[in-house]
Amino acid sequence: MTTEFQETICRDAARRVLGELSVQKPDHIHLPTLAWLGGRRLIIEEGGLKTAEGRLVATADGGVIRIRSDIQPASRKRFTIAHEIGHRVLHGLSPSTDTLQDLRTWSKGSKETEANIFAGELLMPEFLFKPLVIRESPSLAFIDSLASEFRTSNLAAAVHFVMYTSEPCALVVSKNGNYCWSKKSPTFEFYIKKGILHKYTGAANLWAGKAERSGMQRTAAGAWLERFDLDDRGDIMEDSRRLDEFDMTVSLLWVYECI
Ligand SMILES: [Zn+2]
Repeated sequence: MTTEFQETICRDAARRVLGELSVQKPDHIHLPTLAWLGGRRLIIEEGGLKTAEGRLVATADGGVIRIRSDIQPASRKRFTIAHEIGHRVLHGLSPSTDTLQDLRTWSKGSKETEANIFAGELLMPEFLFKPLVIRESPSLAFIDSLASEFRTSNLAAAVHFVMYTSEPCALVVSKNGNYCWSKKSPTFEFYIKKGILHKYTGAANLWAGKAERSGMQRTAAGAWLERFDLDDRGDIMEDSRRLDEFDMTVSLLWVYECI
């Protein structure tokens, strides 16, 4: 796992880069300028990649961030560029070639996680993001609106949401009906079950091909959390959705009352 200390280093590095511009709102985060400043002298070019999403080739005199031309939506393109700037700032002149898998790696201690944390903070700086997060109840729809406002990927916005919300929330990513990884907010004090998703979870229902649920809905706490009995303990809220582009499911869990 990437330690809290490493995460702080990555976020601080992104804040220093942002400090090279006078950023007061998300629209001010102009990536071509940030790629160029600070002696990085990176230009951004599109095309020439088939399987990779992005690539960085850098020298002490400058270099190129190349991104796949047909990345959709545009917000994912921005996240890829920010990720490559992260490699340059955090990892120096080492070249990188990034796949979709690298850009969704948030849980393993690796250079990819570090570049993603950097990119998240670069596109959603705490001083702009946090005040918005505390205004609304947790939901994937609200996270969609944050991703749209900050023009970044929905998954990155969801990770940042649980990082900064004061509500007890967790983001769980699953694949083929199995737990993959999770991120908890600082106030989420529970243990999430690993392995095969319990059939009572909304996420398991999605994998089973049952109807998509919309918005936050009650789920038995014991379906998601360790140390809870399925029969006699309370409910939590769950908002789950398939992300077909990534072949996975994201679930936002929210402990909205004492359980
Ligand atoms: Zn990378």
